Amino acid sequence: MAYRVPFVNPGKNYAMICEEIDAAYADVMTHGDLIMRGHLREFEARLAEFVGTKFAVGLNSGYHALFISMLAAGIGPGDEVIVPAHTFLATASAVVNAGAKPVLVDVAPDYNIDVTKLEEAVTPATKALVPVHLNGRLCNMDAVRVFAEEHELIVIEDACQSLGGQFQGRQAGSFGLTGCWSFYPFKILGGYGDSGAITTNDSDIARFASLYRYNGEDRETGEYHHHGVTCLMDNLQAAFLNVKLSYLPDWIERRRAVASAYREGLSGVGDLVLPHFDDPRFEDVFQNYVIRTKSRDELVEHLREAGVEVLVHWPTPYYKHKALGLEDRGFPETEAISREVISLPMNVELDDEQVEYTVESVRSFFGNR
Ligand SMILES: *Cc1c(COP(=O)(O)O)cnc(C)c1O
Repeated sequence: MAYRVPFVNPGKNYAMICEEIDAAYADVMTHGDLIMRGHLREFEARLAEFVGTKFAVGLNSGYHALFISMLAAGIGPGDEVIVPAHTFLATASAVVNAGAKPVLVDVAPDYNIDVTKLEEAVTPATKALVPVHLNGRLCNMDAVRVFAEEHELIVIEDACQSLGGQFQGRQAGSFGLTGCWSFYPFKILGGYGDSGAITTNDSDIARFASLYRYNGEDRETGEYHHHGVTCLMDNLQAAFLNVKLSYLPDWIERRRAVASAYREGLSGVGDLVLPHFDDPRFEDVFQNYVIRTKSRDELVEHLREAGVEVLVHWPTPYYKHKALGLEDRGFPETEAISREVISLPMNVELDDEQVEYTVESVRSFFGNR
């Protein structure tokens, strides 16, 4: 079925910038610049500048950014790492695959880790903390810093959903030992396949990541420094991301405009809870526009019938999947969220008419009850 308002529209996004994308493709292909070439170095330099860190290292995914951050920070067997109970599974998998144990903490109503519950998760084995800036909103990085300093914990930011978001005027991904990024197609900055990056101010971490992503090899000397993996960002992907990065400030503005229109149209409707947590310290970028209602499943059905494509992130909390072997200490907010949330279409391809139609479709559900 063709939705009147699709959740995302990659074909339309391409049409908006196709001349530049096609030129980038032709440039890469005619020069045969496929692996570790200038486009990658350029993207890394521009990403580091945007985030405000000294270094950026291009990788093949956000997962590997998290995983390599764990290894670079010396996290391994015997260590515990605090992660939120409500996040994409990759945050916890990176900890598990590094040989350490994720210790889950519930989130607050703004969907980010509940800083008042960090204390109870600490043990003598706790080595690090992964604040996830979910949906384009940062965690309270003041509270995170104070807590981390007090317990001498490493902070690794999962910034995969928050490029351009700020807390107290400082960019996501610039607070921790590393900031971890994903350029999966439907992130705020998305390529045409998987890719990711680490940002950091630490030259040893940057060097470790740039060796590890290429089987531990120093490309200048040919020396192998450790057993690594093959997980670097493709030069072609970097060339595309360079084109899109130039649009990022405008596209963030557009997301904020869509969020404002949703807010205007949906405030006070039914039992809806909207994702606006007014606090002047936070600048949100709305990777997702998540609304909550007790009639979630009925509203999802209603919207799909109306031709509005919505998603639910996530109907089952990840720690409930038995095969993962994770400890469920009881996370009431995460469980309420899993029953109540809907992500409305939120992307730069939406036109005003589609935003208006989405608002009307949500309103008609509550109007008819
Ligand atoms: C997308 C995402 C990741 C993983 O990124 P990939 O590039 O898909 O590996 C990790 N954490 C969060 C919060 C994400 O949204």
